[in-house]
Amino acid sequence: MLICEHCAVSYTTETPRWRCDCGGTLRLEFSARFDLAVLRERTPSMLPGLWRYAEALPVPVADAISLGEGLTPLLPLAGPWGNAHFKLDFMMPTGSFKDRGSALMISQLKRWGVTEIIEDSSGNAGASIAAYCARAGIKAHVFVPAQTSAGKAMQIALYGARLAKIAGTREDTSAAALDAAQNIFYASHNRSPYFIHGVKTLAFELWEQLGFRAPDAVIVPAGNGSLVLGCHIGFSELRNADMIARLPRIIAVQAARCAPLARAWQQWMNDPVPVNKGDTIAEGIATAVPIRGRAVLAAVRETNGLFVTVEEHEILERLKAVALAGLYIEPTSAVALAALTKLRAQGELGADDTVVVELTGSGLKATDKLVKVF
Ligand SMILES: *Cc1c(COP(=O)(O)O)cnc(C)c1O
Ligand SMILES: [Zn+2]
Repeated sequence: MLICEHCAVSYTTETPRWRCDCGGTLRLEFSARFDLAVLRERTPSMLPGLWRYAEALPVPVADAISLGEGLTPLLPLAGPWGNAHFKLDFMMPTGSFKDRGSALMISQLKRWGVTEIIEDSSGNAGASIAAYCARAGIKAHVFVPAQTSAGKAMQIALYGARLAKIAGTREDTSAAALDAAQNIFYASHNRSPYFIHGVKTLAFELWEQLGFRAPDAVIVPAGNGSLVLGCHIGFSELRNADMIARLPRIIAVQAARCAPLARAWQQWMNDPVPVNKGDTIAEGIATAVPIRGRAVLAAVRETNGLFVTVEEHEILERLKAVALAGLYIEPTSAVALAALTKLRAQGELGADDTVVVELTGSGLKATDKLVKVF
């Protein structure tokens, strides 16, 4: 069942739909199951990548459109930031964590018989969706802001999607896509509940890789907030199934120059606040109007987490620090590490806390931007 988060009307999952008739976003009613004995026996050759959590996914494995996504390494790494576990989600088929969501979303679109879609993105989601559409034989039109990194735009075009570069802000890109979606199915990853049910596999993997335990805290970048919502749903499903006792704190990080959620948090507001968006190198989270902002704020609050903002120079310093440890990540990913450094210095996170830093995107994607600042 698909249920409107605004007016609570429900719809069948049998027919394609991307929003409620009232315009509201939809959530998916679904009950996840976990079987520890089965999981312990299940090898990647039996069910590869994130599909190993088949009993907890809303799409049957038989219908999976897969490029080998999921089960990325969890690397313990000490540095100026103290001890932390780094989740290497930049090692995904298209170079970002978005593949978790795309795999589930495009598999469901294929089941629905959708043959052509429109998507808008700051770059990584567009590249990811273009790849999975290529795999599924779905025609894709991808709208990106004109200033998107060259690597991401090239990927989208080579995967065979029709690429439209839109002048102006990220919000102008969304408006152009929505306009074009009059006649073609709008596969917005920021609206699809299937996308979030793909991203939630991040929580399952962390739990399994930590020896079937939840970490104390997970630090994620937040633009529209799919990582916040994915972690919240994933860990909640584990708790409801008695696999963990309590939810880890979700720590959501925004660039100070575009922080509608973090500003709302500081002002005790339940909805994102309007911001005058500045230019940030963290292009993957330069979202002024997060569509599910209210749910994202509520999710962080429920886990006793918090929002953190980081400055441009902190982002670049941490990107360089982690490169010196051997990891090449894009600026949007570096915000999570910048937040960890800050929170450790403030004593908000203890030295013995098990902390996961989600590294979302590959540095190779942003090389054209990095050569301008280093
Ligand atoms: C999309 C993206 C994010 C943020 O995801 P949201 O769902 O918008 O919060 C973070 N890092 C990278 C590399 C991304 O591509
Ligand atoms: Zn509605």
